[in-house]
Amino acid sequence: MLAPGGRAARLERNALPAPLQLGASLARYRHLTRSERARCARTALALSRLDREDPALDCATFGDWLAERGESAAAVEALWDLIALPTLNLPASEASLALAAQVFQVGLLEHRDAADIGYAAAPLSNLHDEPVRRALYAAGVDVRLRWRAGRIAGDGRGGYEIAGPAGAIAADAVVLAVPPARAGALLPAGALADPGRLERLGESPIVNLHVVYDRPVTDLPFAAAVGSPVQWVFDRTESSGLASGQYLAVSLSGATEEIAMRRDALRERFLPALAALFPGARDARLERFFATREPAATFRAAPGVARLRTGPRTRAPGLVLAGAWTDTGWPATMEGAVRSGISAAEEAVAALSGARWDDATPDGGRDLAGLEAGATPR
Ligand SMILES: Cc1cc2nc3c(=O)[nH]c(=O)nc-3n(C[C@H](O)[C@H](O)[C@H](O)COP(=O)(O)OP(=O)(O)OC[C@H]3O[C@@H](n4cnc5c(N)ncnc54)[C@H](O)[C@@H]3O)c2cc1C
Repeated sequence: MLAPGGRAARLERNALPAPLQLGASLARYRHLTRSERARCARTALALSRLDREDPALDCATFGDWLAERGESAAAVEALWDLIALPTLNLPASEASLALAAQVFQVGLLEHRDAADIGYAAAPLSNLHDEPVRRALYAAGVDVRLRWRAGRIAGDGRGGYEIAGPAGAIAADAVVLAVPPARAGALLPAGALADPGRLERLGESPIVNLHVVYDRPVTDLPFAAAVGSPVQWVFDRTESSGLASGQYLAVSLSGATEEIAMRRDALRERFLPALAALFPGARDARLERFFATREPAATFRAAPGVARLRTGPRTRAPGLVLAGAWTDTGWPATMEGAVRSGISAAEEAVAALSGARWDDATPDGGRDLAGLEAGATPR
């Protein structure tokens, strides 16, 4: 964890069982004062005791809950947001306490090694797309790429027709795994009691900055930044195949401000910020600088989101929903998407094998009846 001026601290686990595995490095964490560190330990304990099933957690922001426990703005920036921002794609001040509790409990407080950081050393297409395609082809699946699905309609015999670029295709069951706003537009009328809820899930942007220097400016494989607009930075030199120099990728989550900034403005803000973290960058020549922007990278993990997420079942038998945005209890992550895909496939297979569909509570979301808006859980 780097701060401008070369102040560095390290958060690493030891061999103790969770939630003690980070205790020793937290006790030495230089970006917090001694009293802030003690308070953070108490707050982590309180966080571990929250009941993730309690619907009241989805009525509060993580930031308000932290403030009630006396966490300073400095502690939120130097510790809590280091984890909240990249996992929830929103800062603590805007994120749902329910999803924050999920991330911190599952990621940090329940298993010693759950927060070990892995990152792809190869392009994600090598890791996800190609192996999946190979498995699908091997299973005899007809894979159609760049096939834009249109509206889904019942065929009157219990199956479906999906409009496509070259005519419709017929299906006995459908797993619709597109982003939420798109899903709402493709579903047949009546498939969800309230299709507008999918639009109301909202969106949260991610911006990645790609910065290539003519020489190495750091030997860290990745780092987080404190007191800097840089959030997390990864060395992509090797994975990009760059022969000389260094390729840094700066990953900006919850990037509502940066998504609207022009390349020059981003350069002006981030090059000095990188030089403040990596003094070697001051003398290095910039070879390339560009930004990639995902305005709708994830759904907005704000309070109330649990009510908007829906399970895999729709009201249309055999037509199921999948995606990181469905009601997995997880934030928008690859793991959430995979979990959702498995649940959706199970529902589709059950429908094909003739299981009763009318037992379902489609379009459910979490039942928040009786909750007072804004109630803050203890
Ligand atoms: C820049 C960025 C960085 C991220 N970093 C991480 C990370 O480090 N770790 C992590 O766990 N998660 C990360 N995420 C989030 C993760 O990628 C998503 O949560 C996950 O990919 C969602 O999977 P999904 O299957 O729900 O949706 P998607 O991956 O969005 O897939 C939906 C698919 O539907 C297709 N589609 C849309 N409309 C149609 C149509 N009409 N017909 C046919 N196909 C259609 C789209 O082309 C798309 O391929 C990141 C996301 C972004 C944008």
